[in-house]
Amino acid sequence: MGQAKKAMMENEENNDLIDFLTTLEERDELSGAVAGITKQIKTKGVNSMSQNQEKTINGFVEKYKQANDCEMCLGGNIGSLTEYIYINDYGLCPSCQHSKEKFMKD
Ligand SMILES: [Zn+2]
Repeated sequence: MGQAKKAMMENEENNDLIDFLTTLEERDELSGAVAGITKQIKTKGVNSMSQNQEKTINGFVEKYKQANDCEMCLGGNIGSLTEYIYINDYGLCPSCQHSKEKFMKD
């Protein structure tokens, strides 16, 4: 894999993380250290995190994922962190919710 491609993929992952945290911030679901780090990476970027901050964020993300598992695919259809917020609202990931709606309509 070329450097440019690798950097691009990392960028996508970072944007996903920022999207995820920003959405939770808007919903007022962040507190303490996680809220502070979110403000920081929104202005300075994900790479501005110290090792400790990264650990805090990773721990938060892991906990959020565990608390919001899609009961239909168990995470198999999930492609981005923001989809876990969707699960928090609907109980299913966007892809399974879509299948369910289609199923109910038929
Ligand atoms: Zn699912």
